[in-house]
Amino acid sequence: MKLGIVGLPNVGKSTLFNAITQAGAESANYPFCTIEPNVGVVSVPDERLLKLKELYNSEKVVPTAIEFCDIAGLVRGASKGEGLGNKFLSHIREVESIVHVVRCFEDPNVVHVDGSVDPIRDIETINIELIFSDIEVLERRIQKTQKAAKSDKALAGELDILNRIKETLENNMSVRSMDFTDDERAFVKQLNLLTDKPVIYVTNVSEDDLSDDGASNEYVNKVREFAAMENAQVVVICAQIEAEISELDDSEKSEFLKDLGLNESGLDKLIKAGYSLLGLISFLTAGPKEVRAWTIKAGTKAPQAGGKIHSDIERGFIRAETIAYDDLISVGTMTTAKEKGLVRLEGKDYVVKDGDVILFRFNV
Ligand code: GDP
Repeated sequence: MKLGIVGLPNVGKSTLFNAITQAGAESANYPFCTIEPNVGVVSVPDERLLKLKELYNSEKVVPTAIEFCDIAGLVRGASKGEGLGNKFLSHIREVESIVHVVRCFEDPNVVHVDGSVDPIRDIETINIELIFSDIEVLERRIQKTQKAAKSDKALAGELDILNRIKETLENNMSVRSMDFTDDERAFVKQLNLLTDKPVIYVTNVSEDDLSDDGASNEYVNKVREFAAMENAQVVVICAQIEAEISELDDSEKSEFLKDLGLNESGLDKLIKAGYSLLGLISFLTAGPKEVRAWTIKAGTKAPQAGGKIHSDIERGFIRAETIAYDDLISVGTMTTAKEKGLVRLEGKDYVVKDGDVILFRFNV
């Protein structure tokens, strides 16, 4: 899963991105992630892995990871090709979800490109570029579909959806704010429109606003109202604090967070929000060599889940010996779990659940 970080200049994107790369996951464990200067890979926090490590006396723990891509340089006029604009828009097209950083902190030493702190104006400045870009895509598509619809009456429905979307965009609204039937949604999804991508608004606040999660910051409250209209999420962070946290080891980190009156870092909150926004869950594998978490979309069946580990597992799938994490922990050992009949033999139609600990049986 890849999230793209966007936002106006000077809102704290690089500070956040540096915290991400600094906290970065050990890349040796993730050979399939693209390591480029603007990509940071972070592990998804999962307390379950440590418990399993104890249970199995495993050598190592490999959490699952997500990628953040720093898409700096999106400015007013980007959709018109200003300041390398189009290049940045094409980067956004490649990510699954957008992390939109907005400035909600006051600091006379940090210049704002538009002269004052106003997160809604900032959000709209960026969104308008994405909207323009989507309108361009739609205009081309509508032209093509109009031509084809002359000989194929079945395309009238598509044309109707395309026009509805264009109208919404022309009213400065994002596609993600629209309601669709399931069939329409499937069609809209493959258009890969920028304003259809799920978004998390990250409000960058000062350290003082962290303890009540931004509730007393009027900028944050405005962003929350705006996000609600758009079916988007909000995560409150202080980028500067994240940068400091990223330099600490685990025990120092929890001590530091405790001093701030927090349970988890902003980055961890952001990772979790991204996970749930994209409908992702984790299943777990455990043994003496390693315990490991794997990311799948909710609704994935056992063979395809196994395919995440190795394509042979999907191809030669026989069954998935499965136990829910909570069941395993409540009885304490795999042997007892088996005696109590808590380990299920699941077949190819089994839909894997979050926290399933699975041993795949397969033919090679
Ligand atoms: P970018 O242009 O969006 O990448 O912004 P930067 O991350 O470079 O940040 C711009 C300036 O704002 C830098 O001087 C940062 O030190 C400062 N900055 C970033 N986050 C915070 C924050 O949470 N509080 C304050 N006071 N300053 C911040």
